[in-house]
Amino acid sequence: MNPYLDDDLQALAEHARRFAEGRVAPGFLERDRSRVLDRTLMREMGEMGFIAPELPTAHGGLGMGSLAAGVIHEQIARADLSLSYINLLASLNGQILSQHGRPEVVAPWLRKLVAGEALFAIALTEPRGGSDAANLRLKVERVGDEYVLNGEKTSISAADQCDAAVVFGRTGTVDSGAHGVTALMVPMDLPGITRNRFDCHGQRAIGRGSLFFENVRVPVSHRLGDEGKGFVQVMQGFDFSRALIGLQVLAVASVSLEETWEYVAQRQAFGQPLSAFQGVSHPLADFETQVAAARLLCLQTLWLKDRGLPHTAEAAMCKWWGPKLAYDVVHQCLLSFGHGGYDRGPMEQRLRDVLGFQIGDGTAQIMKTIIARTKAGRQAVPV
Ligand SMILES: Cc1cc2nc3c(=O)[nH]c(=O)nc-3n(C[C@H](O)[C@H](O)[C@H](O)COP(=O)(O)OP(=O)(O)OC[C@H]3O[C@@H](n4cnc5c(N)ncnc54)[C@H](O)[C@@H]3O)c2cc1C
Repeated sequence: MNPYLDDDLQALAEHARRFAEGRVAPGFLERDRSRVLDRTLMREMGEMGFIAPELPTAHGGLGMGSLAAGVIHEQIARADLSLSYINLLASLNGQILSQHGRPEVVAPWLRKLVAGEALFAIALTEPRGGSDAANLRLKVERVGDEYVLNGEKTSISAADQCDAAVVFGRTGTVDSGAHGVTALMVPMDLPGITRNRFDCHGQRAIGRGSLFFENVRVPVSHRLGDEGKGFVQVMQGFDFSRALIGLQVLAVASVSLEETWEYVAQRQAFGQPLSAFQGVSHPLADFETQVAAARLLCLQTLWLKDRGLPHTAEAAMCKWWGPKLAYDVVHQCLLSFGHGGYDRGPMEQRLRDVLGFQIGDGTAQIMKTIIARTKAGRQAVPV
């Protein structure tokens, strides 16, 4: 029984779990080695209605609400966190495009996104830093009916695999802060764009890399929100992705715990199952408790979002607690498997995968600053 999930959402989760176990889980280890996102699988997810189901039907979605996106996202992430970036990026970018884009420009892209035919990246971080995100430098100059982009974005998930990106650049002066930032939808086949790929510790199927813009001309019609208001208007979308990231990493923690309980119940030492020793079972019991609580927080955050209620602090809580907790859980699970856990395989891959989210989409320090601001006020917590 879960207060946030009615029978329909439970059934949706079960449907997604069957798909994830049958189609996503089998390629989990191989995708880490090949470092390629499976586009066939992505299209299948689209056909099943598993990508951005919360988008309005007019945009190809199912108009189902954020909790539906959350329960599907959890099931895909259980099978492969890296592949579940498809859901994360589609929900984050889908919301931004549908709320801030010109309908005639974004509609064809949204249909492709929901169908699993287009992958969008979100391009905010720059070489000079990611935490102080409003202080970005990518130059965006208006020339007639176009914007001309020059600069670099770095550490961007799916940089070399995406078909388009939401790019944040500066139309104002360098010292104009958050108020001089403009967001644009940029197709990746425009002349002047080059990209690379990093050798990442985890999340290797989705990968990260840099995007380089040299005199890239983007039609003004591709702007998202008002000129100079990209940061203030479009960044609201991150509250959604922060709750989704919480569910994503906690799903990995849950499946790791399930496998570990099974293992410690059958593995023998000193004539007893490992689970008979409190030194083995109590840390797992502690983590079961914390994962259950953290998951409820994430579901509550999406529930608040679906009702149009404030949820910025809750989303930041999901984003710092979830990844920290998931890392600690998977670490404990890996240790419970003894030397076998240290071999190349699911546990060590999950540990590498979840670690990325202690940095990606904002670190714990930045999330705690957001929480502090909502409690004490922006003036009391300026940075
Ligand atoms: C797996 C992964 C995926 C990512 N995907 C994307 C993506 O798709 N798109 C994108 O735009 N970016 C992405 N990023 C980049 C990510 O958002 C940034 O790395 C992050 O915001 C931190 O920025 P930074 O790395 O430049 O660290 P810095 O900003 O240089 O910070 C370094 C350290 O100092 C701390 N720090 C900074 N300021 C403060 C402060 N005021 N108080 C306390 N501590 C502070 C930080 O918490 C951090 O620990 C991704 C990163 C990773 C690892």
